Amino acid sequence: MQNELRKSYDIKNWSLISEIEPSSVGCSLCPGSEEKTEETFRIEDNKGRWIVRSIVDPYPFTHPSKFKISESEKLFTAIKAHGWSEVVIETRDHTREFHELTSEEIKNVLTVYKNRVNALRKRENVEFIGILKDNMNIEFEHSYSKIFTLPIVPESIKEKINTFNDYQYKTEKCIYCDIAKKEEKGPRHILSNDSFIAFAPFSQTENFEVLVVPKKHHTCINELNEFEIFNLAEILKNLLTRLKAAINPFKYGIVFYLRPNKEKDFHFHIKIFQKTFHSTLDEGYGIYLSKLSPESVAKILRGK
Ligand SMILES: [Zn+2]
Ligand SMILES: [Zn+2]
Repeated sequence: MQNELRKSYDIKNWSLISEIEPSSVGCSLCPGSEEKTEETFRIEDNKGRWIVRSIVDPYPFTHPSKFKISESEKLFTAIKAHGWSEVVIETRDHTREFHELTSEEIKNVLTVYKNRVNALRKRENVEFIGILKDNMNIEFEHSYSKIFTLPIVPESIKEKINTFNDYQYKTEKCIYCDIAKKEEKGPRHILSNDSFIAFAPFSQTENFEVLVVPKKHHTCINELNEFEIFNLAEILKNLLTRLKAAINPFKYGIVFYLRPNKEKDFHFHIKIFQKTFHSTLDEGYGIYLSKLSPESVAKILRGK
């Protein structure tokens, strides 16, 4: 069954049904396995060896298909999970995790994010681009992150956009610019550099939640210059080092909130948090990742 996005009967929520299971035959992300994957972008060292690569995701949330609503009645809304999903291989080294990379190496990973977001924004029927990273290593035992597009804007993001627009309408200001200024001087401030501020949000939705907000009003990661990308890398490295000392076992997620494609304005930001058993897609974007379709569940429970 092709991946499908389904809307809830009664609450503002989408679920993504993806029955593709990862197979564990060696590491397809390690150097030497390049032919097994379809590369979309790479950064090389001065010897011509890749140091960060992005590839077409073998276990995609979304994949290119004829975009159409497949079933839409009053009660049942489903959309083919059309889009593009990529995996960013963050290091050549199978044994190193993202938080162990240097700021300079993290900067390379962020540069690949920026490149891929730029490229994916231009494709057809892309409403939303998500970037997520965790260290659960569910699909590969090699440090990686995921970038994907959706043909819809998740309901939780629509809520953020509505709040942003409403605040702007009432005050003629950006809510995130105001939050950043206030939190930098308050009791929830953690650290800042020239370009970013990190703080524990006033009302958390996750354990050990930290928001990272650019000081300048940028709507998307692709507006950051090289200096700002390095500053973002530095703040992420610093925060992950602090989180590692505070959380045991050290399981974390990172999610990027970028301007949806049809929106003119937004202020992009990043959430870092302690991982629970929920998928990062759910914790980040409020989309429940279902590895078993409701029809399969019913079949199992009916016993035929
Ligand atoms: Zn590997
Ligand atoms: Zn702003």
